[in-house]
Amino acid sequence: MKKHFTIITVTVLSYFISTGCACNRTSTSNLMVDNQQIVTPLHPETLRPDCDTLVITCIDYRFAVANQNFINETLHLKDTYDHISIPGSIFNLVNPETRDLVFSKFALTVKFHLVNRVVIISHKDCGAYGGSSTFGSELAEKEILCDDLKNAKALFLEKYPALDVDLYLESLSQEGDEIKVHFEKIH
Ligand SMILES: [Zn+2]
Repeated sequence: MKKHFTIITVTVLSYFISTGCACNRTSTSNLMVDNQQIVTPLHPETLRPDCDTLVITCIDYRFAVANQNFINETLHLKDTYDHISIPGSIFNLVNPETRDLVFSKFALTVKFHLVNRVVIISHKDCGAYGGSSTFGSELAEKEILCDDLKNAKALFLEKYPALDVDLYLESLSQEGDEIKVHFEKIH
C-alpha cells in the first residue's frame, strides 16, 4: 500500500549537550520571579479556554523540547491544547489493560474543555515498547508503530465519531553536530 508522509524537521538546539544546572546560570537573579508565566486567559465571549485539542505524547526527555516547538509553532496550537504525556504515548491506548485509563482522562478533557481534536505523537526507539532493537528491523518498527497509531485513531473514532485525529511519528537522527527530530505525518 502506498503511504504518504509529510516530513517536518525540528532542530534540537543544544539541550541534549548542555548538562549545566539552572541554579548556576541564575545565581544572581530570582528564579521564582524570573520564571513566572502569564496564564492563558479565558475567551472573553465564551468565558472558557480556547482549548479544543488534546495532544498525547510519550514522556521521553529526548523529544520534550522538540515536541513543544512542534506543537506550539509548527501546529500553531500554543495556549489551545491539553497535553497528556505518558510513557509509550498511545501504547497505553492500544493496550487493553490501560485503555480505560486513557479514555477516562480523555473524557475529562472533552467535558471541561470541549476537546474536538486529538493529536497523537509516537516515536521510534520508545522504551515502553522495549526500544528499537525489539522490533528486529527499522521497517518492522515503523510498520508496528504506524499500525498502533492507526489503531489508536480507530479506537478514538469508535467512541467519538466527530473527532479530528492527527497522527505523527517522530525519530532522532544525528546530522553533523546536531541531533534532529523528524516528524512524519501518518495518514
Ligand atoms: Zn517513548
